[in-house]
Amino acid sequence: DTLLDVSGISAGTEDKPILHGVDLKVGAGETHVLMGPNGAGKSTLGHVIMGDPTYKVTSGTITFDGQDITELSPDKRSLAGIFLSYQAPVEVPGVPLYSFLRSISQMRPELKCTAREFRRRVGAIADELNLDQSFLMRELNVGFSGGEKKKIEMLQLLLLQPKLAILDETDSGLDVDALATVSHGIQRYRETVGGALIMITHNTRILERLTVDRTHVMVKGHLVAEGPASLIDDIDKNGFERFGSQAAGEG
Ligand code: ADP
Ligand code: MG
Ligand code: MG
Repeated sequence: DTLLDVSGISAGTEDKPILHGVDLKVGAGETHVLMGPNGAGKSTLGHVIMGDPTYKVTSGTITFDGQDITELSPDKRSLAGIFLSYQAPVEVPGVPLYSFLRSISQMRPELKCTAREFRRRVGAIADELNLDQSFLMRELNVGFSGGEKKKIEMLQLLLLQPKLAILDETDSGLDVDALATVSHGIQRYRETVGGALIMITHNTRILERLTVDRTHVMVKGHLVAEGPASLIDDIDKNGFERFGSQAAGEG
């Protein structure tokens, strides 16, 4: 059952082509890993799947859950069930995280519930993530650290229950505490929501606790290799060099 079908996608900014004919299929509930050197275009692909208007799609199509979403706004893609990490909440003076979470969940018909039920739901998720309830009352204008942003990301993930979550280096530069929250959040997402996952990561440790279905390697805007989970260990040992030479001739 194909959930996401990226087919022949070329995209870039106004003056710079970044992705070149990218094909990527993700089945419902599958876990995929996207690896590649810095500047390869991994984040761009995530943003293009999410519909970020920064990038213009020049060819190809993106189908999600049976619907052609190539021209859809990011909002509609989000409602369709796609989640891209680092949707940092806008900093709104005086608005607690809790209210922000309430407002984003109320935009979704399938998540509509009473204030009481919402309190219960969010409380349970915070417990699962080992977050103190006082964290939920933090104001969005009060500077969150990188680790705290990732915790908010995991709250959003478990609350919104997307069909596909794209986590872009969600594990990089975190302290042990935040890494545990992220790791546990992803685990819970797999177990309770059963949604598909595209992990863009260099950190193979966070992958140890996940069953990876497919690994993709991107170099210079091309997907140059695809393989089973064992490809991750291979890259861990040998790096991207052999893929680099492959992509070099293609520009
Ligand atoms: P990765 O996530 O694999 O490190 P990115 O997708 O961030 O790679 O970037 C791929 C290439 O596209 C890089 O050369 C980067 O500088 C460029 N790029 C990405 N986004 C933009 C942008 N908004 N404007 C200009 N160049 C960009
Ligand atoms: Mg192609
Ligand atoms: Mg990136």
